[in-house]
Formats: sequence, C-alpha cells, structure tokens
Amino acid sequence: MITPLRTKQSIFLSIVMIVLVSCKQEKTQEPTVDSLLLKEWIGPYGGVPAFDQMKVEDVKAAMFLAMELNLKDIDAIANNTDAPTFENTIEEMERAGEELKRGSTYYGILSGNMSTPEFRAIQTELAPLFSEFRSKITQNENLFQRVKAVYDASREKPLDADQQRVVELTYKGFAMNGADLDKEKKERYAAINKELSSLYTQFSNNVLHDEENYITYLTKEQLGGLSDGFIKSAAKIAADKGQEGKYAITNTRSSMDPFLKYSTERELRKQVWTNYYARGDNGDAYDNNQNIVGILKLRRERVELLGHKNFAEWRLQDRMAKTPENAMALMEAVWPAAIARVAEEVVDMQTVADKSGDNITIEPWDYRYYAEKVRKVKYDLDSDEVKQYLQLDKLTDAMHYVAGRLFNYNFTPVPEGSVPVFHEDVKVWEVTDKDSGKNIGLWYLDPYARQGKRSGAWATTYRSHTTFDGKKNVLASNNSNFVKPAPGEALLVSWDDATTFFHEFGHALHYFSSNVKYPTLNGGVRDYTEFQSQLLERWLSTDDVISQFLIHHKTGEPMPAALVAKIKKASTFNQGFSTTEYLASAIMDMKFHLADPTNIDMDKFERETLAELKMPKELPMRHRSPQFGHVFSGEGYATAYYGYMWADVLTADASEAFAEAPGDFYDKEMADKLVKYLFAPRNSMDPAEAYRLFRGRNAKIEALMRDRGFPVTTE
Ligand SMILES: [Zn+2]
Repeated sequence: MITPLRTKQSIFLSIVMIVLVSCKQEKTQEPTVDSLLLKEWIGPYGGVPAFDQMKVEDVKAAMFLAMELNLKDIDAIANNTDAPTFENTIEEMERAGEELKRGSTYYGILSGNMSTPEFRAIQTELAPLFSEFRSKITQNENLFQRVKAVYDASREKPLDADQQRVVELTYKGFAMNGADLDKEKKERYAAINKELSSLYTQFSNNVLHDEENYITYLTKEQLGGLSDGFIKSAAKIAADKGQEGKYAITNTRSSMDPFLKYSTERELRKQVWTNYYARGDNGDAYDNNQNIVGILKLRRERVELLGHKNFAEWRLQDRMAKTPENAMALMEAVWPAAIARVAEEVVDMQTVADKSGDNITIEPWDYRYYAEKVRKVKYDLDSDEVKQYLQLDKLTDAMHYVAGRLFNYNFTPVPEGSVPVFHEDVKVWEVTDKDSGKNIGLWYLDPYARQGKRSGAWATTYRSHTTFDGKKNVLASNNSNFVKPAPGEALLVSWDDATTFFHEFGHALHYFSSNVKYPTLNGGVRDYTEFQSQLLERWLSTDDVISQFLIHHKTGEPMPAALVAKIKKASTFNQGFSTTEYLASAIMDMKFHLADPTNIDMDKFERETLAELKMPKELPMRHRSPQFGHVFSGEGYATAYYGYMWADVLTADASEAFAEAPGDFYDKEMADKLVKYLFAPRNSMDPAEAYRLFRGRNAKIEALMRDRGFPVTTE
C-alpha cells in the first residue's frame, strides 16, 4: 500500500499543480531572483536537476516567481485574439509553466526527502498561495471559454485520437473544478480550496510531529526477540538523538512493525502500538480530529457548488470505477471473507499462545507477534531466515533484470559525480534500450530513512516522457525508508519490503515506458495507476529472479527450493489481517465522504462505522482517521483508497494470464502486450479499454479471491 504521492496527475492537473497563482502577497515581492530552482536543467542526459545546489532559503522567492511566470503564460493563452484552436490553446497549455514544473521538482525533494522545520514553515506559508494560484487558472473565464470552444468544435469534428483525449481531459478538469460557476460561487470555490490547502498541510505536519516526538527508548534488558540488525540500528538512532547506550523505537511503520513482530516485551509492544495508532489523536495542539471535520465540511460544500450530492460521487466520475456504488460493491464483496479469515487467524494465534503457556488473550499489539509464531508452526516459515536471502543490492539487480526481460531496458550506473544528487545516499542509473542503445532516461534511488524524510516508499518523476515539443527523456525516482545498515553490514530486508521495492519500481517502469505525445496523457487514473506497480511485484517470486538474485548474504547460495515453496504456500497467510486492516481504511474513506459532515464527531463516526462493519477487535484500521494522510493531507487518495483493491483485481487477473502463458511470466508475446497496452499508453486511452485489449475481456473478481486464499463462491 504505497503511495506515489507526487506522480503526475492528468495533463490538466499537472499544469495546474505546476503553476502557482500570482496573488497579492506575491506582488509585494519583486521577483528579482535569478533562481537556480527555476533555471533550465543543464548537463548530461538531456539536462538534470541541480540537486546539489538547491537551498531552502531560495524556495519562497523562486516559487513566487514561478507562479507569476506561469500565470503570464496562461494569460497569453487566454487573451489571444485569434480564434481558439487546439494548437493555440490546448497545446500552449501543455507547454505553460516550465519554470514552475522545474521549481516543483526541487520543492518535492525538500518536502518529501529532505524536510526541515525551516522548510515546513515555508510550506505552510506557500500552501494557500499555491491553492490561489491554481484557482486563478481553473477559474480563468477567458481560458475556459477557449478550452470549451475547442472542446465543442472537437465534438463536431474529432481531432486525432490523442489530441481528442487531451481536449476531453482538459475540459473535464476545468468543469470538475468549477470553471462553469458564476462569479460569486467561483469566489467561494477558490476560498474553500485555499482553506483546505492549509488544513492539509496542518494535518500532515501534525502526523509528522507525532512521528518524531513519540520515541520509545529501550534499555539493554528490553531487547528480547529483536534481531541483531534491528538492535544495531536502534542503538544508532538513539545515539544520534543523544541517548547513547539506549535503543530507540521511532514512531514510524518501519520501526513499529518489526518491533511488534519480534519483541517479547508485551508491555512495550502495547506502548509502541499505542503511540503509533494515536498519531494525530492525542488531544493536544497536534490533534487532527477538528482538521478532519473542517476538511469534510469544506469538501462537501465545494462539490455542492457543482451540483453534486457528495465528494465521493464527484471524485469517482472520471475514475475506472465510475461511481462510489461500484467501488463499495467490490469492497463489500470481499469484506465478509476477510473478517471470517481474521476469526480463524485469531483462533490459531490463541492456540499458540495457550500452548506456550502465555496467559493472555490476543490484543491488537499481539497480532503481529503471534502471527509470526503461527507462521513458524503452520508454515515453518521464519521471516528472519527469508531475510538472509534478500539483500537490497541484489534486489536492485533483480529489478533491472526483470526490466530487461519485459521492457528491453539496460540499467548502468552513471559515472560517480556526473549527475547531481541531493544526498550522498542517492544513486543514479542510466536507462537505455538494449537493442538501439538509445537513452530512455535516468533512475534515481534514495533507499534509506533519515530525519525529515516522509515515511513509506514512493516513486516520482522529475521529467516525464513527451514528444510534442521534441522527445524528452524520463527522470524517475524510487524512494524508500530502509534503515541504513551499520558500516560493513549487508542490508537485509523482509519479503514484504522486497515486494514494496518491486512495487515502486513498477511505477518507475510505468514512467519510463510512456509513449504519449502530450504531458496530460502521462496522468494517472487513481484506481488504475496502482495496477502496473502491483503487477510488477509478481516478478519477485519468479524462478529466474530467485535463482540469480535471492542469494544468501554469507554463503552466496540461492534461496533453496524448499524455502521458496514455503514462501509460496505462506503467501495467503495472514490475509485476514492485511485485507481487513486495509479494507477497513478504504471503506472508512468512502463512508467519510458519503456521510453528512454537518455535526460529525470523528471519534464517534469511526467507532460506529467499525461496529457496523463488525470490525474484529483484535486489529485496528491500517490508517486510523487522524493519521490517514492519503485522504486528509491532500486530495490524491480521498475516496480513492479503494483503488488499491480495484487495481488488485486487475493484478490478480493479469497474473493468471501470465501464469497460463507458454513462457510463464517471461512469455515474450505477453510481455509485448503488457508494454503495449498496460504500460506505454498511460492515460492516452480509457483504462477499461486498454485492459480488454490486453486480456480479451474484463477482469474478474474471482482471481483476487483465489489470490488471497478466500473461498470463491461464484464464477
Ligand atoms: Zn504504488
């Protein structure tokens, strides 16, 4: 469940996001900065960002200037006196705001990879201005009238297919964002967005605050069950925080999860669990409950201006699912099987606990710990043993190998120092076509956790493929939060983390393989864009990868067949837990946005919704509401968290197609179809249509049920 936070939206949105509004505040500052952050990228590989020279103190002035320049571009389009055409309106919009696009790349790094209190202050100040800026574009009446004229004309006399799609997406983007409203409503619409943007920033900064400020320090006597690697890194984190001799469990998923899985100290497990699931919910200055209420009310008011009943209905109209009912129907079809499986898992865990003489009843902070014990008893699978074969460097090679087989790509490390990076840990590879040797782009990898880096894993592009203004190569990045090993130690990761690593690489391949002409067509459709990355996860467990890359870090032996068989057998293990914790969050997301927010009490709403669902008491939602950044630190995943499962139906169904092919997961014909229909077109064709071209039919939910080991009741 990893979010590509800064993947490009639709064409329209990317323009809008890139361009910041020049507002009164900006006008008071003369744009005198000849800012590095906005300059054209120079150097090798078609030009690269000067990450080594970016400075936080330049950000504000640069972003002000970039917004102003972008608005100038937009004004020139809007005020053109020639009759509107695709070329002088839509294509010019595709071109607008180059400076802001470049500036936003640096901004994204400073916010996601290298954040500081200093930067966060700037971010807080800029967020409402960005929003105003976006409104100035979406609400530019002249611009909209020109877009509408091109759109109307294209309904009479269609353009080339890709141009037609750009026009439709652009027009829809405007209409969905209030361009058709009267003056008064437009003003309110913009004011709402401005308010929302501040609430989003507050929301995520509150979560970050609680992640950084609730650290559990252990003494030497409290390390029972923990691995050497974990202990070493916990010692280092404590030492870095001035607590020499202690061991720090930070309040992030990457610390919490392994600690709960292995620590024998039940009281400490409870404490770490409680800290984690209370993020944003501590009743102090960093509590998010009121922010959520504010967000839900403003979202409802905004879509009501557009004549929609609720946010969910408005949001899903251009998604693959089309309506909240379709999305809910999928989730409700899977939910009963998921909670029934939890009940079975709890019985298994309780049995193990009783047999070991632990006089306990399974509580949420026990789930991971006893699940791990059940895994050993039932599947004889020891996660730590598996880890010995999962070295990050080898996994990186494995991904490059898969990209070579499916996409015909070669990955070569760039010469040391030839491409600027924002941190010494970031490594860069050149991506070329194996046959022609032509450059496709650069792949940046930022693998390690650090202070100021957001948690989780994600993929971004610094530059996307387009051809309308000459061919542009792709600069894509993958970002993770692996705990950096002590010097000389191999970095061993869990099977789940290896899967996530492949997942994010799937996003990168989706960027690299784009064949679209216009930037807008690189946009992701939220419930479709996780499909490509989820599908790529499946290559981790292919024989070719296992035999060559899943190599024991000490002996160099490949993972034994018996262990592989155990992993495969265990793949449906704990699906009750993972499906339920995810689905509870996804259903909650949808229910927040279907409910009337007028007098909503978040605590109560969460509690009652879970009770209605018969949520098992032994586990929490994966993201409790006050920390559900996907949904409340922006709009990217609001009423879209279901999209992971929507995409997973496609993933399971497409995997079955590969498994049934003569060449299995490396079948040449299937690989060609994969690239041609599922990856390269991005959003240049309707996703449902693209999938049918690949599979010859729609995806079936039964594939997902089989995949998770749930009973299939219909076929
Ligand atoms: Zn993803």
